[in-house]
Amino acid sequence: MKAEIHRDVVIIGAGPGGAAAALFLAKAGVACTLVDKAVFPRDKVCGDALSGKVVEVLHKLDPSLVEEIAVEPQHLGSWGVVFVAPNTNALRVPFKRQYDTAREKAPGYIARRTDFDNLLVRKCKASPLIEVVEGLGLTAFTRTDGRWELRDEAGTLRYQARIVLVADGAHSRFAREVHGVQLEPKHHCAGIRAYYKGVTGMDGDNFIELHFLKDFLPGYFWIFPLPGGYANVGVGMRTDKVSARKLNLKTELPRILAAYPQLKERFANATLEGPVRGYGLPLGSKRRKISGDGYLLIGDAASLIDPFTGEGIGNALYSGHFAAEQAVRALAADDVSAQFMAAYDKAVYARLWNELKLSHRMQQLVRFPWLFNLVVNKARRNRTLSETISCMFEDLDMRDRLRSPMFYFKLLFDNGH
Ligand SMILES: Cc1cc2nc3c(=O)[nH]c(=O)nc-3n(C[C@H](O)[C@H](O)[C@H](O)COP(=O)(O)OP(=O)(O)OC[C@H]3O[C@@H](n4cnc5c(N)ncnc54)[C@H](O)[C@@H]3O)c2cc1C
Repeated sequence: MKAEIHRDVVIIGAGPGGAAAALFLAKAGVACTLVDKAVFPRDKVCGDALSGKVVEVLHKLDPSLVEEIAVEPQHLGSWGVVFVAPNTNALRVPFKRQYDTAREKAPGYIARRTDFDNLLVRKCKASPLIEVVEGLGLTAFTRTDGRWELRDEAGTLRYQARIVLVADGAHSRFAREVHGVQLEPKHHCAGIRAYYKGVTGMDGDNFIELHFLKDFLPGYFWIFPLPGGYANVGVGMRTDKVSARKLNLKTELPRILAAYPQLKERFANATLEGPVRGYGLPLGSKRRKISGDGYLLIGDAASLIDPFTGEGIGNALYSGHFAAEQAVRALAADDVSAQFMAAYDKAVYARLWNELKLSHRMQQLVRFPWLFNLVVNKARRNRTLSETISCMFEDLDMRDRLRSPMFYFKLLFDNGH
């Protein structure tokens, strides 16, 4: 047994969840090793939208990081979201700010993941407490003498860790093989994204657009503006629905662009740049156990993606934050037992479960186009509902009324404004 492979904390995956965990650990003065199979900058299939929640967690980590995001030209400030209902009525919902900042600063951003993820990894590399190891996949995991033995593809023992923070994304091998996570089609979404240049009719305040198209429900189509005249364009739908309808999302995208006159016109002179790529989204519509003996699951490995909006970066950052806190406590108490680590589950769900539940309800609403049309029509005139939707996106603590189904029921039968 070699002494140099011993680590207190090894983080598998340097996406937003893993990088945030490393940076929060470093902030608490705890060293860690952050391992990724890729070499950064690397791409990640995504819509590239960074909501106010992302800004909020980064602000907790280091306010200067938010300043940096605000000034780097590859990050485009966004002021809100446009929902387009099946009847083509649009509802514009401005993002709310999470913390005090100058009014001219954007509450959200859109940034290619190649750039955003690399920014966080660069911060990790700059920290003396974070050892960043790139180009190394950790794929075999054994529990021996109260430690995790982590091996690479060749079967070589690379680390023996007291705590493993598992942030290796939607196809997490650790989550599947050690924790027993299985893909559940009702709690999983399939998504594809493409980059286009020259899409017209983009919003003046860089609002992101979510279109609920009548023959593509309960899925949705998005257009998110990017710097330089580019746009991230994609579609997503729950995996059980994709299977039931035998859809191929890669052929759905051009079909949708040709089938809807309002889109056809906007894409008339747009060019597809690069390949159309797909990836899975494990949804947080079901509450799960996300920790065990000597390990914590983070971000997509913990299935924390918002079931309505498909947003996962903010929740990956939040879970990375809570995982770092739990790891610090476990090391201090010299207790990495499953029982002790379960405090992490509580912390994550105390912060996220109300929103995830609400988003699950909203996801189900989309199954009924008439009801969706009605809600959007109402929200165009009803500030309460449009603020509700804004809160949902902006992740303020949910107001009590949002927990009650009566809120929605009353709204539908209430003519108030
Ligand atoms: C089509 C699509 C659109 C989306 N749009 C949005 C959006 O607009 N906004 C939003 O907030 N979210 C969006 N999401 C979700 C978002 O992409 C994820 O929730 C987010 O990337 C989760 O971050 P993470 O750190 O958990 O995992 P990831 O970002 O997937 O990072 C995991 C890392 O682990 C590494 N890794 C994997 N296996 C190993 C291994 N064995 N050993 C070492 N390293 C490993 C990978 O190389 C990767 O760097 C979208 C997802 C999809 C698929």
